[in-house]
Amino acid sequence: MKTTELSKKLLASLFALTLAGAPAIFAPTPVEAHLLSCNQERGIGTRVYNKAVKGHTVHPATGDVAAIQDRLVECNSSRLNLKDNSHRRYLARTVIDESVNYPNAFMAPGGISVVYAKQIEIDRKYDRAARIQDDVERPLDAVNYSAQSVCASTLAHEYGHYANEDFLRMADRHVAMSIALACIPTPTSIAVAASAGTAAGNILVIRQESFAAEAGADATALDFLDNVPEYSMGSAITSFRHLQKYLRSTNQKDSGGFRNFIQAHSHTDKRIERIRTHIADVSNGRVQLAEDGRLTVDGNLVCGTGRLMDADRADGRERTDYLAGQIASCMARHIWKPEHLRAMKESEYVRGGSSDHTVFVACENAGASEGYGKIAKVLGTFDYPIGVADRLLTTAQRKAKAELQAVWELTRTLHARMNA
Ligand SMILES: [Zn+2]
Repeated sequence: MKTTELSKKLLASLFALTLAGAPAIFAPTPVEAHLLSCNQERGIGTRVYNKAVKGHTVHPATGDVAAIQDRLVECNSSRLNLKDNSHRRYLARTVIDESVNYPNAFMAPGGISVVYAKQIEIDRKYDRAARIQDDVERPLDAVNYSAQSVCASTLAHEYGHYANEDFLRMADRHVAMSIALACIPTPTSIAVAASAGTAAGNILVIRQESFAAEAGADATALDFLDNVPEYSMGSAITSFRHLQKYLRSTNQKDSGGFRNFIQAHSHTDKRIERIRTHIADVSNGRVQLAEDGRLTVDGNLVCGTGRLMDADRADGRERTDYLAGQIASCMARHIWKPEHLRAMKESEYVRGGSSDHTVFVACENAGASEGYGKIAKVLGTFDYPIGVADRLLTTAQRKAKAELQAVWELTRTLHARMNA
């Protein structure tokens, strides 16, 4: 294949250049912002991809996973695009690898991303049982937007590598020619990186570059989630926690050590910590998610305990992570105010939704004066039917309603404090 030949030559020349330590010779030309053209980047990416999935059962994502990719692209159109014949650089449809039995995902150069089926499996889990194997998997349809949001956080991280042009920038600096940026370092991903031309002498540099790229992709992923109404920055925490639970269940160490040497990722705890800090930052310190998962908004513990439970539900921690990210987003948009919030039947919010469930949303407009306008952020689903008299509700439904009202009340605490 022509592109393969070309990338081989490029690899050879750039690699030689790295070793010779003469980076100035290949200065970017005026027409290209980067050393590699989009076609060359894709050519190298194809090669890396082919190596990484050789002998595996793979297929382009379809159905719900493809819909999540589309949603991320559509709501982040200034930074993400699929092939549309107007952009030279574009994301390929994410590929699902069914053959690998552990969770991971990676972005090869040229927008070619691969997610292992096992990663989607753990993103789909409820976080209820002690072992992740015992947790229930949810569908990824629109009713299960919370599970979608967790899966979206995995995809968004990979798309973050693409949007941040990590590979192009690395290539510009003649450092690492073919690193598939993997979410979790594995023998396979290290082998791919190594066989693609990593020299022992450069590993330290690559490791440093890689750390920066990973933290950058995590940060960009939060922006991507933030821009989709039904996806929450908090879901990135849930995804990482599921990963920790998986590693514990399978007696594996979290990051560190040799496995993390080339494909540098911080320990998952640290990545979670950075998300919590980001949520606090975008909310001006008003949303605080503690290490134990308790949520404080304007100094008040949510529902008195810091956790959403909903009487019949056991996914309190995930719902609380989700809510934390969404409240912070609302604050950044200046819509964390009672007049922007609206409770609606789940069946009205989404096709296939139940009229016994209520979805709580924040809208662009203050409803009283101008109508609510578009839904800006979804805050959560509560298991009670809106518009039904309290005496007709079950005990569990009454608790769910009280929970929603407690969240709504949180919008008033800042005002109340100012008036005091
Ligand atoms: Zn990564």
